[in-house]
Amino acid sequence: MRLLVRGGTVISVDPRTGDLPRGDVLVEGGRISAVSEHLDAPGAEVLDATGMLVLPGFVDTHRHTWQAVFRGIGADWTFAQYRAAMHGTMRPHYRPEDVHVGTLLGRVEALHSGITTLLDWCHCTDTAAHGDAALDALHQAPGRSVFCYGAGIGTDIPVAAELARMRGRIPGGDALVTMAVGLRGPQTTSMETTVADVAAARDLGLRVSVHVHVRPDATQGRRPVAVMREHGLLDDRTTFVHGNGLDDDEVAMMADAGCSVSISPDVELKMGFGWPETGRMLAAGIRPTLSIDDCPSAGGDMFSTMRTTLSVQRGLDTARGGPPSLTARDVLEFATIDGARAVGLGDQVGSITPGKQADLVLLRADDLTLFPANHPVGAVVSAAHPGLVDTVLVAGKIVKRGGALVGLDLGELRERALRSRARIAADAGVALDGTWIPGEM
Ligand SMILES: [Zn+2]
Repeated sequence: MRLLVRGGTVISVDPRTGDLPRGDVLVEGGRISAVSEHLDAPGAEVLDATGMLVLPGFVDTHRHTWQAVFRGIGADWTFAQYRAAMHGTMRPHYRPEDVHVGTLLGRVEALHSGITTLLDWCHCTDTAAHGDAALDALHQAPGRSVFCYGAGIGTDIPVAAELARMRGRIPGGDALVTMAVGLRGPQTTSMETTVADVAAARDLGLRVSVHVHVRPDATQGRRPVAVMREHGLLDDRTTFVHGNGLDDDEVAMMADAGCSVSISPDVELKMGFGWPETGRMLAAGIRPTLSIDDCPSAGGDMFSTMRTTLSVQRGLDTARGGPPSLTARDVLEFATIDGARAVGLGDQVGSITPGKQADLVLLRADDLTLFPANHPVGAVVSAAHPGLVDTVLVAGKIVKRGGALVGLDLGELRERALRSRARIAADAGVALDGTWIPGEM
């Protein structure tokens, strides 16, 4: 029940504590009870963090976890090709057991790289059994997850009853799995459906997440934030995913309403969404959060996502003749505390703060790829990688130790994942060797 994480370099992401070159973190009853340069905790189990960096766990604010078995096949896809492939060609062949193994694989992979909180933006919910399978996988994985129920993109099917049923399967309180609603949104469905989806979410007291991006050549759906505002749908429980190409006044509307934003820099850059809007959001007073989005197209860890975020924005700043608009510390905050706030858990996780849940990541700073970590935050954002993740705690429970996940049969998980992948690919007529690129939709 008591665990002392002793002697690491603590990056708390809490301005009251700051960074401790050498510090101790005491965990009691799953929560952080003290953080200091030196703590005495007689009788506590000791976790030796000598030579390690101790950070709050990362928060991924948007990932379509069900797609994990198709890692990498979309590395060269445009957005239209992604939609045609994953939603048009492959999703119809997903059975509930495929959603289960994909979600479990993706959730466990995220945990392996230190993502302790993940919002699973699940839009493979063609039947109730599909949604149940995703939720079962999140319950089974030892991470903290937000099950973000998304109805099929492009449909107008009413979902209020199904949302209420799923809500009934999630206990609330301190449980590791909570719930949110993924809107189809004004760019993929009718405004009536968007209004109904938001009303259903509000009836259940749930946050909403909605994809928006506007390409320069778009002729329709150019002002998704403005139309949602006209219908009274913006509030501080709304997260916009991407946000590329929004008009300046729409970004201001988001800021005025207290909305958050989830930026997926790698997917946005590769799939043709335009530049990540990190700098514009910051300038408007919105703290961005970060997300992986989809693993067929992008790597699944937060280290590479942070690095892309920092490099691209600083490059844009310079190209536009200005000074850099953000630092490595900003980006670490996007990946931790800002993300926690955007999934409704800002008072529970996202920093090493007494009273919060003990979701911690220990990185091996003596590894030659990080040594010597002179500026610990700078080193994490500019040079760290999943191979350095030694230990992960969720709610005070050690879920990874000595570089290995605890209590999971990864052999069986891999076998199930490969069987699922082979069956879907065969039924959908998809090759996995990179020769198969779907046509434009
Ligand atoms: Zn997405």
